[in-house]
Amino acid sequence: MSIVNQNDGGAVSGAGWFGGEPGCYAGVVLNAPVDRIWTYRVPERLWGSLQVGQRVKVPLGRGDRPTVGYCVSVGLESPAGVELGRIKEVLGILDDPRLIDERMLELTRWISRYYACSWGQALDAVVPAGVKRQAGTRLGTFLVVPESVRARQEEAALGLTKKQAAAFAVLCASVEALSAEDAARRAQCGVGTVAELRKKGLVLAFQRRLDRIRGDDEGSVGVVAEALKPAPTVEQSESLARLLPALEADAFAPFLLQGVTGSGKTEVYLSAIEHVTGRGREAIVLVPEISLTPQTIRRFRRRFARVAVLHSGLRDVERHRHWRSIAEGEVQVVVGARSAVFAPTRRLGLIVIDEEHESTFKQDHAPRYHARDVAVKRAQLEGVPIVLGSATPSLESRRNAELGRYTRLLLSERVNARPMPEVTLVDMKHEKGAEGGLSGPLRFAMSEALEAGGQVMLLLNRRGFHTFALCPKCGAVVKCGSCDVALTYHRGRRVLLCHTCDAEQPRVEVCPSCRAGNLYYGGIGTERLEREVRGTFPEYTCARMDSDTMRRPGSHEEALSAFKAGEVRILLGTQMIAKGLDFPNVTLVGVVNADTALHLPDFRAGERTFQLVAQVAGRTGRGDRPGKVLVQTFAPEEPAIEMASRHDYEGFAALEMPRRAMVGAPPYGRIARVLARGESEGAVEACLGALAEALQAANAGDVRILGPAPAPVTKVRDQYRFHLQLRSPTVKPIQALLHNVVAVFKVPAGVEIAVDVDPVSML
Ligand code: ADP
Ligand code: ZN
Repeated sequence: MSIVNQNDGGAVSGAGWFGGEPGCYAGVVLNAPVDRIWTYRVPERLWGSLQVGQRVKVPLGRGDRPTVGYCVSVGLESPAGVELGRIKEVLGILDDPRLIDERMLELTRWISRYYACSWGQALDAVVPAGVKRQAGTRLGTFLVVPESVRARQEEAALGLTKKQAAAFAVLCASVEALSAEDAARRAQCGVGTVAELRKKGLVLAFQRRLDRIRGDDEGSVGVVAEALKPAPTVEQSESLARLLPALEADAFAPFLLQGVTGSGKTEVYLSAIEHVTGRGREAIVLVPEISLTPQTIRRFRRRFARVAVLHSGLRDVERHRHWRSIAEGEVQVVVGARSAVFAPTRRLGLIVIDEEHESTFKQDHAPRYHARDVAVKRAQLEGVPIVLGSATPSLESRRNAELGRYTRLLLSERVNARPMPEVTLVDMKHEKGAEGGLSGPLRFAMSEALEAGGQVMLLLNRRGFHTFALCPKCGAVVKCGSCDVALTYHRGRRVLLCHTCDAEQPRVEVCPSCRAGNLYYGGIGTERLEREVRGTFPEYTCARMDSDTMRRPGSHEEALSAFKAGEVRILLGTQMIAKGLDFPNVTLVGVVNADTALHLPDFRAGERTFQLVAQVAGRTGRGDRPGKVLVQTFAPEEPAIEMASRHDYEGFAALEMPRRAMVGAPPYGRIARVLARGESEGAVEACLGALAEALQAANAGDVRILGPAPAPVTKVRDQYRFHLQLRSPTVKPIQALLHNVVAVFKVPAGVEIAVDVDPVSML
């Protein structure tokens, strides 16, 4: 498991190596799937300035190609046993100040070991692209009105032209320094006018980097007054009472906050964070990307003055600005999706992960890290508490709580003793007459809710119109030419679309396999559901939210605010609508098809289905009116569905945990998956066969090696896919095999291998 050092020297871990002291030798890692530290000589001109955590330019290979790497060590001694003449020189330093500190180095080292990727790959995942390119850093001119002028503001304005007066008023009214461009834009004048104010001595100008969070960032609302905060419920107080000592102890302490939907988990996070910022420390809050709604962000901005939001929609420049502000200690709270776990806070005091069970916290490309587990590791390295929150905790976290590794905090009731919504299962086996997506009971419940003035949400986790095209003669389903995936018919665009590779083709009427006519188009997606809803309830407004209708930036927010304002009465969509929304007037939620995840070839299919139904069921009854939930399913007797309908997480866990234990699946056993892909099916299979043999030969007997077998999705983008599974009660022997065998395995040309430790998808 040790690092392969080019020079095989022992000095890499020697004293002073991580000290950031002036040194003559540097250890450098590259963003390549090779776990190796290269040694370079530091030229005299860089002595004293080269630090660990900086990116450097180094010559690589025979051609001395200049390559970017990360400096991970600086030392005075040359590594033992190296011919000094052969060591090349560092060409230059790319970042000043450095982007990575010692603790982040340690965290990335851990990631590379745990997830079997190279240190360079892990480091590269930490620093966003915009930061690496220093996007948007330039100096700008900022203006303020000095106190002395403000005191006699009216008098000062007397001799001004109309435009100058407007610009002056804008600057007087602003609490923050404004850039000359911003001031001119707001006053609807030119920058020249603003410059005239400067000449008159009415405003002061200074230079500042334009890489900070602007004062007029979206949704920045005044911080809420103390009196407006709700008094905590008994359960919230109890949870906080157990959190507070940990928040003051400056020590690692992991908590699992298990609270039913609407029990006030977010309020607990906010109070805990207040405590942390009150001590001059910072907090990181991770939420699933899909929950980063304006509503969520506003909730944090109302309570904290300096909130940075990191999400995938940010442009490089904005991301860089946020990153810099965080690194400079200007931010109290970082709210973000997966990669925010690497936010470069200065004095971290707390990490919060909301919806910790979400599989989107796992990155699906190298390094395949799980942000929750990385966050726990980071909290441990930094010696701070961490709170994992969920209404339906992952069974992994539940197990950790059972074993006493996490302290469990429970919120068993909704705020204000609001009842949990009543959930009715609709057995679709008895709804044969229903042509489309809405059963009789769902249609009836919709009219009832709408007539009473309520709003309705309908969830269907399938986009498109028809979800398949089937040949009635040979039984074949029309598939993508490049993927082993059925095509979806999108009626608006009149195309058959592959949801895996986005390839599209015109609608076909003849079976591509047997040439018979009369293809049967079936299955229902959100596009078809929308048509049915509009046809059935023409008198009510309806909006659809899925990745097809929400392409334009801002459209997500528009649709939600129209729904919130009551302009839209029926909101239907994919899981986009299922998360983190809090609409008091929603009195009915319909799950159009609860079975979409149930039959996937994945041991977590039941858990996913349970989580989905339970989460959706929590979206109603948040206001004063009781809410109702209808769940359509072909398998009402399925425990995952039946127990979700009764909000019975404990019951589901009690049933599912022993099942997992019996087969040694997580959380009782550990899995790593090795996926091979390539254009030649034979080559891929042969490669994985050889790898399996090498693994067997090295296996001390404590790891079960399953496969190679074709992956459930056998082909994606013209690449055939096979996989192997490594299973063991603990992760260590699996990691040992990955490092000792897989990492050094010679993969033939044309085949690619991906290693996934703790996979969340087996497809
Ligand atoms: P969760 O995160 O568990 O779903 P939230 O924190 O969003 O729950 O709380 C649900 C609703 O109840 C929110 O509208 C919130 O403002 C409100 N709320 C939370 N705690 C209290 C409290 N102690 N008193 C009154 N209302 C509260
Ligand atoms: Zn495809």
